[in-house]
Amino acid sequence: MLPHIAYIGVGSNLGDKAENCLRGIRALTSGEHSRLTGRSKLYRTEPVDYQDQDWFVNAVIRIETRLTPFELLEMLQGLQRNAGRIQDTVRFGPRVLDMDILLIDDEIIDQPMLTVPHPRMHLRRFVLQPLCDIDPMLRHPVLHQTVQYLRDHLPDDENQGVWELP
Ligand code: ADP
Ligand code: MG
Repeated sequence: MLPHIAYIGVGSNLGDKAENCLRGIRALTSGEHSRLTGRSKLYRTEPVDYQDQDWFVNAVIRIETRLTPFELLEMLQGLQRNAGRIQDTVRFGPRVLDMDILLIDDEIIDQPMLTVPHPRMHLRRFVLQPLCDIDPMLRHPVLHQTVQYLRDHLPDDENQGVWELP
């Protein structure tokens, strides 16, 4: 089986946020199944959706993986649990580690358990900016725009703050 190229969004807003993200990335890419081929800078970002919570650290990575999309999802959910993430009380609320599948090759998957491309990735500066660090010319397989174009044309109400971490 040919490996897939996948982009994963990584975030944390509890505890040592940067370290939680880096640990999650290491845990995903130190095994046989997946190899790290790109990593964005780390960003400090304002919470969106549910705003009464601490700021986040966000990053995006590119991996080459032999896992199927659903195996990858299961792997990410296991890593989130290992990081100490318990059943969320507030949707979009605080979390030690969040790892979302953004893109897998040009695949389109439309199931409640797994939607790819990630249904909100094109509206989130904290996803698009780090994606631009890795591959600005990468195209969204449904919208057919590059991630750089999407970042530069975000609607005004999606202008959450995103700053490079020192
Ligand atoms: P969010 O990341 O949207 O804030 P969660 O991490 O709590 O929310 O994920 C909620 C559910 O979303 C998961 O149980 C998972 O099955 C589902 N899901 C659907 N598409 C994806 C995707 N592309 N990546 C990760 N989870 C997804
Ligand atoms: Mg998630």
